[in-house]
Amino acid sequence: MTQYPGDRFGSDVYQFGFKSNLGVIETHQHLSEEAVEDRTFGWGNNGIDAIMRAMDHCGVEASILQPLGGAHDVFAVHRKIYEYSQKYPGRIFGIASLNVKECGEERAAKEFEHCVKELKFVGLKFHGFSHGINPASPLASVYFESARSLGVPLMVCVGAHGQPFTNPGLFAERAAMYPDLTIIFAHMDYAIAETAISLAGRLPNIYLSSSLSITAYLERAITRLGPERMMLASEDAAGMPAEIAKLVFATHNDSELRVVLRETALDVFNLRGRLRSPA
Ligand SMILES: [Zn+2]
Repeated sequence: MTQYPGDRFGSDVYQFGFKSNLGVIETHQHLSEEAVEDRTFGWGNNGIDAIMRAMDHCGVEASILQPLGGAHDVFAVHRKIYEYSQKYPGRIFGIASLNVKECGEERAAKEFEHCVKELKFVGLKFHGFSHGINPASPLASVYFESARSLGVPLMVCVGAHGQPFTNPGLFAERAAMYPDLTIIFAHMDYAIAETAISLAGRLPNIYLSSSLSITAYLERAITRLGPERMMLASEDAAGMPAEIAKLVFATHNDSELRVVLRETALDVFNLRGRLRSPA
C-alpha cells in the first residue's frame, strides 16, 4: 500500500535543495543538439550546462547521456557525449542510440562497437517508438545482438505513447532469448506499469526506471521486485528534482532510497570504480 507522504519528508535526500550525500546516479538524460529541435519530439535546450546545473542542485553525482530518438545526427551527439565524459570525468557517461532504418545494420553495429569499446559508453538504446521498429522483428536484432556481444545493458522504450512497438509484452520473448542481457524499461506510465512489473517479476533480466511514472506504481514495483530492480530516469535537466522526489516517496526508508537512486545503476551499468567517489 502506498505510504502516507509525510513519512518521507525527513528522508536523507528530501531536503529541497537536495543536499544529499547519496551520490545519486541519473540514468536517462537526452543531450540536445545545439540550436535545433529533435525531429520526433520537438524538444531542445537540454544542453550540458543545464544538465550540470541540475545535477549540482539535486545532488546527482553522475548522469548517463543519450541522443533523443529523433536527433538529426546521432553520430555527432555520441561524440559530444564522449567529449563531455572527458571534460567531467566520473560524472558523465554515455548510451548509444541510433535508427537502424536510417544508417543500416552494418553501420549501426559498427557505431555501437565504437561507442562501447572506444568511447567507453555504458549501454545501448532501442527506441521502437521514434524509430518505428517492432522489438520482435528481425530489424531489431542488431540492438539485442550488439548489446549482448558488447556486454552492456539495452535500454528500451516502452509506454502508451508508442504502441504497438512500445508494448512491454513484445520484449518478453527477447528477454527470455537473451537471459544474460540486461533489458531496462525506459518508462513506467500508467497504461503499461502493471504489465512491466509483472514481466519483470517473471524475467530477472528486466529492470525498471522511473520516467513517466506515478509514485503509486513505483512504490508497487519496489515492494514487489525490490529496490535493486528500479532506477532514476528523468529525461531532461528540468525533470530531475521531480523524479528524485517521486522515488523518495516511493521508497520506504533511506536504505531503499540509496539503492534506487544509486546502487542499482552502479551494478546495471557497471560503474563501480568509474565514479569520482569510491563506489
Ligand atoms: Zn527518453
